[in-house]
Amino acid sequence: MKLHEKLQHLSLESVEDLMRLYYSGDKATNEIIGLFNINISPSRLYTLFPPEELDDRLCPHCDSKMIVNRPSKTNYPKNNNTPFCSTCGHKENYSCKCDKCISDRELKLKRLKEEKERKDLEKRKLIELVYCNVSHKPINIDSLEFEDKVYLGSLLRFALSEDMSNILPLESMEGSLAPGEIKYDIIRYLYSKNIITVHPMSSLSAFKEGEDFPNTFYINLVNYHLNIKYDVDKSCTINEILNSKMLKEEIQINLAYNMWKQIALQECLEYLDYQMKKVGFSFNPGEKTNVVFNDLLDNFSVSQIYGIIYKSITNATRYYQENKITKKQAANSVITRCQGFGERAFIEQWQISKYSRLKDLPQSCLSEFLFNKVLKIGSKGFDEIPSIEIIECEVCRPCD
Ligand SMILES: [Zn+2]
Ligand SMILES: [Zn+2]
Repeated sequence: MKLHEKLQHLSLESVEDLMRLYYSGDKATNEIIGLFNINISPSRLYTLFPPEELDDRLCPHCDSKMIVNRPSKTNYPKNNNTPFCSTCGHKENYSCKCDKCISDRELKLKRLKEEKERKDLEKRKLIELVYCNVSHKPINIDSLEFEDKVYLGSLLRFALSEDMSNILPLESMEGSLAPGEIKYDIIRYLYSKNIITVHPMSSLSAFKEGEDFPNTFYINLVNYHLNIKYDVDKSCTINEILNSKMLKEEIQINLAYNMWKQIALQECLEYLDYQMKKVGFSFNPGEKTNVVFNDLLDNFSVSQIYGIIYKSITNATRYYQENKITKKQAANSVITRCQGFGERAFIEQWQISKYSRLKDLPQSCLSEFLFNKVLKIGSKGFDEIPSIEIIECEVCRPCD
């Protein structure tokens, strides 16, 4: 082994003596440096020492003896330095950058990649097998009912792919299909009626891993196949659904009214949740909340209820800031405040101002489709109390 150039004036035995003396601590390092006539600062002396050969360890790549650099006196007798091979440069750590280790890692990565590709291909085949659309009998557009058409129209407007070949995963879309839980209800509804089916092109991660693969899927992650029969022209049929070319007789007024109320309730809950979070109130709406807002919707429009929520939260916040109640009490009081506010406003015939939609809570596709395209009541869906009369009035208006 070649000695460091600053030690080359010494014999091997002298170097052994030097190291013994250094590690024994019997003499100060600057004294040792003088004694052996070495040109180095005392703190760096140990870096000149020849590395220690490790007799019991061979390099896994080339069978040479592994060596390790000497520690400083303060670390001695421990040695935290990493052993390495003097022949091929291999180091005993996971990130060794010797040629063999690099190529080993690349090979391992390649094998893993191939293994994954093989497994993915198998999964793909299983998905094809289970979700091959040939097994679903396409549904005739004429047999679709009112709800089917409203939900499907909204979904297609929201997520139909550019080439009309499939419905894109909800999760990948911007905006909102429908407020609150309704978006999942729409998917479940259409799926249960076989109007949409899982598209085999869906990404592998849209299905739950496990023995049951691919029978369980995530409804917001899969692509859907539109299981509709196209008589003449596909784009013609799709256009018909997208533009809700419904005859007046087809509009089921009671169902439409229920949808309106459902949408309105969820829009109120979304607004409540948004404003509560904004002031840092944590709150889990339960059955009571639904009842209170359903009651409010008998007398107020969504835009007015936005105002009621806003004022109730402002009041609760003020009480909390004045230390009259705890944050939890303040949060819980919001619903009671909304209820009380609504009741007083109704009895005393207050003029409740109408709030606008927030940029952060844009109108959902279902809301737009139902109000603008199907019922043609436009902003009344937001600014008026949900009512059968308004729907009847628009639907039954004689043609211009
Ligand atoms: Zn080696
Ligand atoms: Zn290596």
